[in-house]
Amino acid sequence: MDVTADRREASSRTLPLLRELLLQSVTDSDLDRHLRSLRVRLVTEEARFSQRSCQVFAATLAMLLIRSGICVQIEAGTAELLVALPGFEGQTFDLALRRAARLMFPGATLGGSTSADVAVLIGSGVSPLRAERTITLRASGRTVDLEWSRSSSGPWEPANELVALAAAGMAAMEIHKLALHGLEARSGTAAQLLAPSSASFTVPFDLPEVLDIGRLDVISAGAISQNAMWVLASAGARADIRIFDADHIDLSNVNRCPYAFLDVLGRRKVDVVAERSPERLRVEPVARHYRYDEQRTLRLAPRVLVGADDIAVRHWVQAAQPELIVVGATSHFEVVVSEHMTGWPCAGCIHPTADGDVPRLIPTASFVSFWAGYLCGLRLLKHAVGGPSYQDGLLTVAFPLQISESRTSGATFRADCPVGHRAEV
Ligand SMILES: [Zn+2]
Repeated sequence: MDVTADRREASSRTLPLLRELLLQSVTDSDLDRHLRSLRVRLVTEEARFSQRSCQVFAATLAMLLIRSGICVQIEAGTAELLVALPGFEGQTFDLALRRAARLMFPGATLGGSTSADVAVLIGSGVSPLRAERTITLRASGRTVDLEWSRSSSGPWEPANELVALAAAGMAAMEIHKLALHGLEARSGTAAQLLAPSSASFTVPFDLPEVLDIGRLDVISAGAISQNAMWVLASAGARADIRIFDADHIDLSNVNRCPYAFLDVLGRRKVDVVAERSPERLRVEPVARHYRYDEQRTLRLAPRVLVGADDIAVRHWVQAAQPELIVVGATSHFEVVVSEHMTGWPCAGCIHPTADGDVPRLIPTASFVSFWAGYLCGLRLLKHAVGGPSYQDGLLTVAFPLQISESRTSGATFRADCPVGHRAEV
């Protein structure tokens, strides 16, 4: 295996995305060198790894960084593996993480050196590590806060795994910015986006011990769907899932797809998702794309997640009128997630134009796809938890480089909605 050529292919979507922020004179190899040489170390007491939330945090952070070609150091000791995540197998969390990490990206290993460029510290204390920079994360209840600081006074007491996932997504976002440090930003706006920032995120609901999502159809087994399923797996939710996609896993997917491992290249995405999902997520693979004429021959599940890039697919699913549709989309550094129930502005109202040619290799990166999948996962779980649905908050626009600036709002019916699905007057 030619690791250099494989690494180039594996980074073929991450590098063009990150380069959008940089001067044109910065080359792919300049940028790759920055990613490759950054060493990130997770610093925490070993005892914490016997908590599920800590394992979810470490697994997710490692995944988001390794898939961008960044070096990660985690030593998790002898804690038993408590999480059921794709690719994680073994007696201890440490061994499972090491095994999974090697298959996430060409040449990846979990490094164990004692020096690092950035330390990630969870909970209160002072980082004992000699690192140039330190990120501290404190979590209390449903809220997590991130700061660039060498010490933290707050606890690590996340109410549930969803809080730990947000913490990992926030840390990954800051570390990607840091990886670009020293490369010249393309504009003042890009420089602002790349500036280290503190961040805060609150999960909007409590997660019960046992949560069953019931029947769920997932349209596309691409990055957004896979990240949403990572969220459901992390939360320990149960679901009966049917997943539609005709595509195969290739090396250009490993940068952002939690189910894309080096030992499954060339296989059908849906088959790998079905095989590697935890038992609680029962997955039926459907090895074809969802089609426009599907509503005549196939009854969709009451809840549908649409992670497909193709805007027309969102319209076809909406036309079939399931009870709930959650749509996730990304464009460059922006994430758009929306939720549609009967009588609400529909997926066509939010995404009115079916774009003609979708470019084959869309630039995108791990932390962008993660936030899209995460916000979709939150909405699916929120719906299963019950409580008031919020039509006035059906749309979230998030910015995975400045996650605190994300906005959730209502949406209006479009007179020219291509689906023609309107409020009953
Ligand atoms: Zn509409």
